[in-house]
Amino acid sequence: MERRGFIKNAAVTALLGGSVAACDKAEQSTQEVSTSAPEPAPATGSETMEWKMVTTWPKNFPGLGTGANHLAKLIGEMSGGRLTVKVYGAGELVPAFEIFDAVSQGTAEMGHGAAYYWKGKSEAAQFFTAVPFGLTGQEMNSWLYHGNGMELWAEVYAPFGLVPTAAGNTGVQMGGWFNKEINSVADLEGLKMRIPGLGGEVLKRAGGTPVSLPGGEIFPSLQSGAIDATEWVGPYNDLAFGLYKAAKHYYYPGWHEPGSTMECFINRDAFRALPDDLQSIVTNASRVANQDMLAEYTARNNQALKSLVEEHRVDLRKFPNEVLAKLKAISDEVVAEAAAKDPLSRKVYESFVSFRDQAKAWHDISERAYMNARS
Ligand code: CA
Repeated sequence: MERRGFIKNAAVTALLGGSVAACDKAEQSTQEVSTSAPEPAPATGSETMEWKMVTTWPKNFPGLGTGANHLAKLIGEMSGGRLTVKVYGAGELVPAFEIFDAVSQGTAEMGHGAAYYWKGKSEAAQFFTAVPFGLTGQEMNSWLYHGNGMELWAEVYAPFGLVPTAAGNTGVQMGGWFNKEINSVADLEGLKMRIPGLGGEVLKRAGGTPVSLPGGEIFPSLQSGAIDATEWVGPYNDLAFGLYKAAKHYYYPGWHEPGSTMECFINRDAFRALPDDLQSIVTNASRVANQDMLAEYTARNNQALKSLVEEHRVDLRKFPNEVLAKLKAISDEVVAEAAAKDPLSRKVYESFVSFRDQAKAWHDISERAYMNARS
């Protein structure tokens, strides 16, 4: 029953189209300006709106694109169809790396991506996706929700007129796909690798050439030899991309992305125009989508890894300890330097590092001690 009602509402909204909703909104704001009513009229709960969500992911891409779909579906269902969200894959409405500006300018009301793509907007943005040798997925959520992380993220996005939410987490990623073996630090020399964010800067200082490419361009670049290596996410996503067809060696662990947070960001004017209950629905639907994605990756990665190794004969390898130790040392420098670029980055860094120390101390005697005992 409820579901049918939702579909019906969504269909009506789709028939009416976004322009009608926009007219309603314009009419409301005209009324607000032209009358001296001190309070905006309370929402009756009957009007429907349709928002656009632009994403950096290929449409329906497993885990990430479907994570964006899941968030949109939750908002529609939780609001009883009052707010529906239409999801656009990368390039459908705007190219992957233009979604930040598109939502900032109001071309779409919401975006779904990863904050480290916006390093050019703010150095501090990178801390809200992943920091090399930083927080795991569970620790990221703890920092964001109970360690002041969300408040800092809101501060970083405020100058762009955006309200951020955490909207997914991949867990520990894989180190990536390589066309040659990495047996020593010297093997990183001259390596052209798709690796975004702070991890890319670390590779650069280790002698490699980092490249930033959206998901859809990775496979052809690796296959043509334009890049020698790539990281993407983990077995579940990497299998779906067919990366095993373009490179042979699959390395772990993903030192550069130990628990990457996916983001949703909302145009601030659009968010503020929502009644309180819909604001809460958008915020809490994100929270559900965030936790659910981590659960999905944890459930699916090992099955996909099995398929990669057993059916596709992938060469699975751990990075040598010497290589990881070197990357860790460089990472500490790179992250501290990123933090020194502006006062807000420094503030985020200090919060992040102090939280990491605390999380590590607790997890040394809880998660880690238990996992050691179990194995
Ligand atoms: Ca990645």
